[in-house]
Amino acid sequence: MIGSGILKGMAVTARNFVGSYFEKERLITVQYPEERSPLPENYRNFPFLIYDTDDAEAGLRCVACKICEKECPPQCIYIVKSEDKKPDYMGKPQFYPAVFDIDISVCMSCQICVEVCPFEAIKMDKVFELSTRERFDALLQRKSELSKSNTYYHGIHPIEAAEVDAKLAEAAAKKKPAAPAAQSPAVTSPKPSPT
Ligand code: SF4
Ligand code: SF4
Repeated sequence: MIGSGILKGMAVTARNFVGSYFEKERLITVQYPEERSPLPENYRNFPFLIYDTDDAEAGLRCVACKICEKECPPQCIYIVKSEDKKPDYMGKPQFYPAVFDIDISVCMSCQICVEVCPFEAIKMDKVFELSTRERFDALLQRKSELSKSNTYYHGIHPIEAAEVDAKLAEAAAKKKPAAPAAQSPAVTSPKPSPT
């Protein structure tokens, strides 16, 4: 019958409309921004840099190798490698990014930077409320804004972060077989969520 599909669709709508007064699971509208639906583990938007310990500078995992900058398809990562080295969180002298910027107005959230990083230093964030009234500099995220703790990472991607910690602990144990205990990246106090 012509129009039967429309009638069936209207019946489903009516059932959910009336049912929503009696069954909470039929109430699918979320009163954003007062209410927010939980984001799935694998949700991602823009990258951020991870640091261990509670020192965002010394604990930064990034060693400014620039692989992500080279591989980023729209070329929205800008890194300046440091002239000097400083001890990382395990005490090993490392180069570090003197400058690390990501232009999130260009970033296409492809996650290639994450895939190519050999140091588990860059991961995908879940923060999506990043709109601004400016068109230029306001969407250029600097190292200080991009740096977030390993605890923050555990908070947004718990399964993935635990896997990364285990991988890093295993690598550290292989590197230092004589050490009394493998030193895994420390879980530090959470950084306040960016707004
Ligand atoms: S997510 Fe993709 S586009 Fe964005 S910075 Fe990483 S590689 Fe570049
Ligand atoms: S985030 Fe990773 S790939 Fe990019 S420069 Fe730092 S260490 Fe290298």
